[in-house]
Amino acid sequence: MEKIYVTRSSIPSIEEYIEEIKPVFESHWLTNAGPKHEELRESLKKYLKTPNLALTVNGHLAIEVALQMLGLDHGEVITTPFTFVSTSNAIVRMGMKPVFCDIREDDYTMDASKIEALITPETVAILPVHVYGNICDTEAIEAIAKKHGLKVIYDASHTFGEELNGVEVGNFGDASTLSFHATKVYHTIEGGAVVCHSQEEEDRVRIIRDFGIVDEEHTNEIGPNAKMNEFAAAMGICNLRHVDAWIEERRDAYEYYIEQLTDVKGIRLNKIAEGLKSNYAYFPIIVDEEEYGESRDELFKRLAAADIMARKYFYPLVTELESYSSDYDAKETPIALKISCQVMTIPLYAGLSHEDIDRIVKVIKRQ
Ligand SMILES: *Cc1c(COP(=O)(O)O)cnc(C)c1O
Repeated sequence: MEKIYVTRSSIPSIEEYIEEIKPVFESHWLTNAGPKHEELRESLKKYLKTPNLALTVNGHLAIEVALQMLGLDHGEVITTPFTFVSTSNAIVRMGMKPVFCDIREDDYTMDASKIEALITPETVAILPVHVYGNICDTEAIEAIAKKHGLKVIYDASHTFGEELNGVEVGNFGDASTLSFHATKVYHTIEGGAVVCHSQEEEDRVRIIRDFGIVDEEHTNEIGPNAKMNEFAAAMGICNLRHVDAWIEERRDAYEYYIEQLTDVKGIRLNKIAEGLKSNYAYFPIIVDEEEYGESRDELFKRLAAADIMARKYFYPLVTELESYSSDYDAKETPIALKISCQVMTIPLYAGLSHEDIDRIVKVIKRQ
């Protein structure tokens, strides 16, 4: 049987993409904030209803550049171990120490009630993640940050285009970062963005992502090369035309899954919060071994045997990875540890058919 992968990148037609890159070939202007880059930035500002946004080469460097833009270069940053390793790698690579806060059992985002106990005189910022598109408790997190004089940067890689009670998610905190990686809801093949709150901040992001170069004779700080090229921007322009339709297709698949899986004993589904305009990025399920009669790993194997490639996302926890485990103890975030052993994301992408979902559901229901 044909393999069903956990995701499949959405793409425009080849004709549409070729049409978009023709001017790039004609002008020989391939990168360094060319016309396609500028067009995409303006279109994304409109789409995301945000006045200030700067594009980057990927979502990881968006986090590093955002930290630098906010002047964060030493001390401790409170973050979550239940994320893609990029989040904490950015903190370490920018010269800071991640301090891991546990998550909430119901939506997998940072548990704000556990933040204050982790604050020390060294703490400079909080870097939560809107996991699977579930928005963090931004009010509680930002109240704590305000009280202690900390910055808040959200890793919003999972939440492209989402709105909570009419507010676009990029508007929370001091800055948010997006990933436009090929596996995300919206992509530029590789790409990302920093959403910030003033023209000065946007300008600083543009300087930092270009080695820190201010103009031909002035370079005031040390930055990486994190610029988005014209071919990536052209892909982004094409994809922005289709992303609403793709999110609709995801919603259709999502709702069909919900119909089929709601009453399966021992399988807990992700709840979309009230007031959230979701982008249907992922379909995480929690497998309760006792109730379901099988562990996450056993179900994962049975799915694989049926050519269905789920993903243990996020497992292992960041603190269990070799690059972190000698400095951290995963048991200090018990909820995150438990969830990471029970969770998997099952296939969800634009165009996933009901027939394919039936195949997946049958394995889960042992039919
Ligand atoms: C995808 C992702 C990143 C990194 O983005 P890239 O574009 O792959 O560099 C960071 N954090 C989270 C939570 C992600 O899902």
